[in-house]
Amino acid sequence: MTLARQSARRRPSELLLPTPAGLFCPPADIHIDPVRPVARALITHGHSDHARAGHGAVLATRETLAIMALRCGEGFAGSQQAVAPGEVVRIGEVTFRFVPAGHVLGSAQIVVESRNLRIVVSGDYKRERDPTCAAFEPVPCDIFITEATFGLPVFRHPPADGEVGKLLESVRLFPERTHIVGAYSLGKAQRVMALIREAGYERPIHIHGAVEKITEYYQAEGIPLGEIRMVAGADRKALAGEIVICPPSATQDLWARRFPDPVTAFASGWMRIRARARQKGVELPLVISDHADWDDLLATIREVQAGEIWVTHGEADALVHWCGTAGLRAKPLHLVGYGDEGEAEDAGEVADAAV
Ligand SMILES: [Zn+2]
Ligand SMILES: [Zn+2]
Repeated sequence: MTLARQSARRRPSELLLPTPAGLFCPPADIHIDPVRPVARALITHGHSDHARAGHGAVLATRETLAIMALRCGEGFAGSQQAVAPGEVVRIGEVTFRFVPAGHVLGSAQIVVESRNLRIVVSGDYKRERDPTCAAFEPVPCDIFITEATFGLPVFRHPPADGEVGKLLESVRLFPERTHIVGAYSLGKAQRVMALIREAGYERPIHIHGAVEKITEYYQAEGIPLGEIRMVAGADRKALAGEIVICPPSATQDLWARRFPDPVTAFASGWMRIRARARQKGVELPLVISDHADWDDLLATIREVQAGEIWVTHGEADALVHWCGTAGLRAKPLHLVGYGDEGEAEDAGEVADAAV
C-alpha cells in the first residue's frame, strides 16, 4: 500500500466503534443491531437479541423486516427500508452492503466501507449448509467483526443431517412415544423441519403455538416444510410416535409431559456439552447449531484475510488468543446484550402463544 493511500485511509474507530447501545458508525450516524432505541439502525437478522423494537429508522433485508413485524408488530420502527442482498446504500461518506450470513432466513453480514477501509460485521453466522436460507458469503476485508458464540475448541458441530438421522432412528425404535424436539422458534425449528423432510420423513410434523407464525412465514417464502399441524386442539394420545417441535423452554414444562411417554430432544450447539443436556433433562441431544463452530470461525477468519479481528460476543477470549498465535491483531469488544437467542425470548413466546 502506498503512503498516499494510507494517509487517506480512515482510522477504524472513526468508522465503527463499540458503544453501550451497540456498534456505532459516527459519519453515518447509524448503529448496527442496537440494544437500545436509536435514531437509525441496521439490523443483521430477526433474532430478538439483534432486532429490537423502538428505533427511528430501520434498514434490513426484506425478510428481516417481515420477521420483525411478525414478532414485534407492524409499528416496530418509525420507518423501514428494505435492502436487497448486494445493494449498496450510501449514507454520507459511508456505504453499506448486506451479504448473506447463512444464519436464519434473511440474515445478513453488513459490509461498511469508507475511504479505503472495509469493515465486515458478521452478525450471527454459520457455514454449514442450511436448506432454509442463503449461504454465508465470505467478503475480503480489512477488519472482520465476528461473533464467537461457540468460540472454544470443544465446539465442533457434526453434520446436521446425521443428528436428524438420530432423531428419525429414535422415532422408528419407539413408535409408542412422542418425540418432542426443542428448537428456537426462528430459524432452528424450520431448519430441523426442512432437514427431516430431506431425510425422507413424510408424516405430518406437529408444532407448538410459539413456532406457528414464523413457520408460516417460511412456508410463504417458498421453503418446503411439508405438512405442518398445530398441537393445540389435537388429541395428545393420537400423537404417540409423532414428532412435535416446540421452543426449548417448553420441553421442560408441564406442556411436554402431557404427551404419551415423551422423548425430549433439543437441537442446539450447546448439546455438544453433555452436562448441559443432562441438566436440562434432555434425553436425545441433537448437536444442530445455527452458529459457526470453532473450526468454521477460524476458517472464516483466514478466508476473509482481514489483518484485524474484533469479537462482538460469545467466547471471545479463546478466539482472540488464537488470532494472536496466527499473527492477527484481535480484540474483544465486550458488547453487552447479545447471546444465545431463545432462552429468554422463548419464555415470553411460550407465555404468549395459545398452547
Ligand atoms: Zn441469531
Ligand atoms: Zn445473536
